[in-house]
Amino acid sequence: MKSIAEQHIQIYNSLSGTKEEFIPLHDNMVGMYVCGPTVYNNVHLGNCRTFISFDIIFRYLKHMGYKVRYVRNITDAGHLENGSDEREDRIAKKARIEEIEPMEVVQKYTVDFHKTLSKFNTLPPSIEPTATGHIVEQIELVKQILDAGFAYEIDGSVYFDVLKFNQSSTYGKLSGRKLEDMIHNTRETSGQGEKRNPQDFALWKKAEAEHIMRWASPWGDGFPGWHLECTAMSTKYLGKQFDIHGGGVDLKFPHHECEIAQGEAINNCSPANYWVHANMLTLNGKKMAKSTGNNILPDEIFSGENEIMERPFSPNVTRFFMLQAHYRSVLDFSNDAMLASEKGFSRLMQGVSLLNSIDTAKKTTGFNLSEWRQKCYNAMNDDFNTPVLIAKLFDAVKFVQNVNDGRESITKEDLNKLQVTLHNFVYDVLGLTKKEEQGVNLYLEDALNLLIELRNEARKCKDFATSDKIRDELSKAGIILQDGQQETTFTLK
Ligand code: AMP
Ligand code: ZN
Repeated sequence: MKSIAEQHIQIYNSLSGTKEEFIPLHDNMVGMYVCGPTVYNNVHLGNCRTFISFDIIFRYLKHMGYKVRYVRNITDAGHLENGSDEREDRIAKKARIEEIEPMEVVQKYTVDFHKTLSKFNTLPPSIEPTATGHIVEQIELVKQILDAGFAYEIDGSVYFDVLKFNQSSTYGKLSGRKLEDMIHNTRETSGQGEKRNPQDFALWKKAEAEHIMRWASPWGDGFPGWHLECTAMSTKYLGKQFDIHGGGVDLKFPHHECEIAQGEAINNCSPANYWVHANMLTLNGKKMAKSTGNNILPDEIFSGENEIMERPFSPNVTRFFMLQAHYRSVLDFSNDAMLASEKGFSRLMQGVSLLNSIDTAKKTTGFNLSEWRQKCYNAMNDDFNTPVLIAKLFDAVKFVQNVNDGRESITKEDLNKLQVTLHNFVYDVLGLTKKEEQGVNLYLEDALNLLIELRNEARKCKDFATSDKIRDELSKAGIILQDGQQETTFTLK
């Protein structure tokens, strides 16, 4: 098998529309920027899918020996309703509705974001900068874009001049849209306000008297446009040009297209070499979204308090459900899919723990370990193909079961190698955890099983007062019991 240094990763680059060999700009260092959440609401499962997709990429690059600087921002200002330059800032609007400070909104939902992602065992990014912490850098960028002649000021607001930019570059190269078509489609339908053209976008917006989020600037009090923060923060922490820029596919246009335009306008180069887009999680066949209400929150899945699932599912099972699809495919969330994932996850983990108890022999039969290991790497090297990797992991699980049943055999040395590779992929790369690492240690698990047994005995004796009390008290403590046909199991909220 090839050494890790000889393995080549192929990444699908949205900019070229093809898979390309991944060659970082600086030896074994990787700069990766991922657009983070707008913290005005609880993150839903769709948001989590995108962050889990990039967690896998982060983990795999690290596993392959790269030193990765992973920057994921927090949008705490400037993201306007429906992406329109004429609407209200989402955070300011929420603050107005809840009658609290915008920064209270930001704090509340940033805490929720971190808590939720840590339940999914995602690794924290190397840097997590905020838009409001980089107002100075954003004002500086606006000045540079104005100086370069790609922006204009009108009544305290500054807009990017898309038509001017398109004379020397191509606006739409990432999303495959043509500026002429955009102009044609918008000419009759939408008002453009004070902008010269509807396609122009705000770099800086004048704050009206009632707007609470405002900063002083050379153009008067205002606030930055949404696309600008990512250019400011990626440039500050990763440089004018870096390796990977990621986000959900819905950010391709206009957000990432505008980031490219801003970067090119001042640096004459596209900011990132590889543009990576994670596909959407759907519910009832439609995109999960905060705005439409078509979404489910992770805590609603873990507690079972929702109308879609017949019972609760753990963060591990939910994460496994996501990894069974390739990050570029649309994935639909459903009760049946979660039930199947639960079965798959428990089969995988049983295989991993069986490795601790199987007997070894003089010969390994029926399994080519190094060929299998290379296939696992091939799967991940092929644009981080987790479903193919999981299929390979199940090949190993099947073999382990055959050894356990006496149909095949394995040497001590091969057993050790198999264990290391399985652990690397299951825990380090896929980021799955053993049950007890999610908050319950083995002693507590025994104690819980005893409570479950006592409850079952109480139910048999029709002592429902006791059985309900055990269930309800455990639920208050964040432990949810699930009565299956064969046995009662538990998950953690
Ligand atoms: P937002 O907070 O709306 O800016 O979204 C944060 C991230 O979640 C962005 O990268 C979005 O592309 C992503 N996202 C939003 N909805 C979904 C979805 N239904 N499935 C997957 N990713 C999503
Ligand atoms: Zn962004």
